[in-house]
Amino acid sequence: MDKKERIQIEVEIPAKKVHVEHAFCPNGHQLVDESVKIHGKSAIKVKVKYQGKEGLFYIDPTYGSYDNIEEGISLPKGAVLELFCPECGVSLTDKDETCQLCSAPLFVLELPHNGIVEGCLRKGCVYHKMKLVDAEQQVARLFENDTMESYL
Ligand SMILES: [Zn+2]
Ligand SMILES: [Zn+2]
Repeated sequence: MDKKERIQIEVEIPAKKVHVEHAFCPNGHQLVDESVKIHGKSAIKVKVKYQGKEGLFYIDPTYGSYDNIEEGISLPKGAVLELFCPECGVSLTDKDETCQLCSAPLFVLELPHNGIVEGCLRKGCVYHKMKLVDAEQQVARLFENDTMESYL
């Protein structure tokens, strides 16, 4: 094993310090909608299905913030949702993983540079995670806009 393999980079991203600016469906459609803002940031727009009903769902793009917006549908707390790309209809459900907190399915969004964001599909569950593949490069990028001191 060389040095690189032994070092596991665990990135603990501070809540509300970063937000997603580009998120894509598996077919490459941009999901960030600049016309809808949550806390001043462009929201992530997806199609939602729950018990045969359809609506739009705007995901809060700020990491660690959950002020999502429902449009045309009312979703009770605890509801397990299905999310789709509004452009091509592809399912955003992660086929392989489930929530570590409540075992509901997860949704997954693709980020630039092979990163992903995944989150629990149960409304009200706070589990979500950002996985950055080129970790070192990505961390440098994330920290660029802020001073290091605020993380120490
Ligand atoms: Zn799509
Ligand atoms: Zn969950």
